[in-house]
Amino acid sequence: MKTIKSVYVNGKFTEPHGSEMVSIVSPLDGKEIAQIVYADEQDTLTAISAAKAALPDYSKSTINERVEYLKNISIEIEKRIDDLIIATTLEYGAPGERAKWANLIAATTFANQAEMLQKYSFSKQVNESTVIMEPVGVAALFTPWNAVAGSIAIKVAAALAAGCTIILKPSEFGSWQAEIIMECIAAAGLPDGVVNMVNGNGAVITKPIMESADVTKISFTGSTLVGKILAKQAVDTMKRVTLELGGKSANILLEDADFTKAIPMALQAGFMNNGQACIAGTRLLVPESKFGEVKDLLIHEAAKFIVGNPSLADVKIGPLASQKQYDRIQQYIQTGISEGAELLVGGLGRPEGLNEGYYVKPTIFVKVNNEMAIAREEIFGPVLSVITYSNEEEAIEIANNSVYGLMAYVSSDNEAHAENVARQLKAGRVLVNTLKHDPMAPFGGYKNSGIGRENGVIGLEEFLEAKTLIK
Ligand code: NAD
Repeated sequence: MKTIKSVYVNGKFTEPHGSEMVSIVSPLDGKEIAQIVYADEQDTLTAISAAKAALPDYSKSTINERVEYLKNISIEIEKRIDDLIIATTLEYGAPGERAKWANLIAATTFANQAEMLQKYSFSKQVNESTVIMEPVGVAALFTPWNAVAGSIAIKVAAALAAGCTIILKPSEFGSWQAEIIMECIAAAGLPDGVVNMVNGNGAVITKPIMESADVTKISFTGSTLVGKILAKQAVDTMKRVTLELGGKSANILLEDADFTKAIPMALQAGFMNNGQACIAGTRLLVPESKFGEVKDLLIHEAAKFIVGNPSLADVKIGPLASQKQYDRIQQYIQTGISEGAELLVGGLGRPEGLNEGYYVKPTIFVKVNNEMAIAREEIFGPVLSVITYSNEEEAIEIANNSVYGLMAYVSSDNEAHAENVARQLKAGRVLVNTLKHDPMAPFGGYKNSGIGRENGVIGLEEFLEAKTLIK
């Protein structure tokens, strides 16, 4: 049985001090594929010491050295792409194409960061002063299980570029993928102690990190619930905080949209990553006048989202990541039914012929109103809620009437029209007639979707302190 490594400290993978052995099961069939011995509080304290000891030298490293490290990591990830695809398919359930994209984006993130770093000025003249941007110090990075490589990359790349040293706490539910990414980082020639990893139970590992005054920054991607707990704890030692949290993104189809293009895109936005995406467009807002046309198109296009073993070429939706996720989605589908929404596609139970593994039916509810739980809460599975609106003002009001504000989508045949609507939406990113990703532009959320931004210059500056020098 494969054993996943949980501790990388001071330039070495080491045996954990912790002793809790946990099975890793594949969502494809619920069978054990590996084991991991969780790191514990002692392992975390050792990682904090290593990051602290490495900080004085690394924070003074040259830009060229950092650029070299970032480029090396990018190359190492590309070299391991096949291993990453296998791990992402077997451990997470991602279909092959998605697994490839999600891991290549990690390599690109490091390469992009290297490129940006070469252009960034750590010292600038502001009025009569010189402003020096200094690394914030030891950074603890927490990442989720639904986008393992990408979320590790976005944080590690920015922290390294800034000159910070790192304690990485990946999700214990994506440990195999995290191990491979850590191996890529380990192969990139960084000085010992600059990047350390401890993996295990979230609450156990975060405790010493949050209590330590030596850790001066946390960057967390995960649920709004846990993000808020950590943000509160961070205040005691006044750690700098970046939070990338949940979402319930609206997708507005304007009356002048080409629905034959907009509906397939809306389904992709709703069901992407097996529906387990913070940015999923799960509230589909359609004009009342087009409801009949939209319904027919949704039924027709949803049939193309084949659910099944993610290793098969035509499969678009794999299993959910865990039994817990399966149960959660079943519960939300039941909630939608109980709330009086109408099932258009999918529903409770497993798709036909898929009797083992955590497969669910991609589900579309119509006749949803924005007060229902299925319209307000992040479901985190392939469940789409269709809400009708009578005029554009109402569409914008519904879209903004959410505690979240991570992403939004607008479709229209008239780009200026769509942009006018996009500018009125309270979301960190708005995609107009596209599902494109721009890895150089800021990413993050309004409201309960987070604090701060990742990517680009803003993302780098989340790991820097500004010091003003007046002479
Ligand atoms: P999660 O909050 O359960 O876990 C995230 C991290 O926190 C993990 O490393 C976990 O070990 C740790 N953790 C969990 N419980 C903890 C606790 N009680 N105390 C301290 N640490 C704890 O999130 P998840 O289930 O891994 O990820 C799914 C969530 O992440 C969704 O809400 C999704 O929207 C969000 N997400 C957001 C983004 C974004 O960029 N905004 C990207 C991906 C995922």
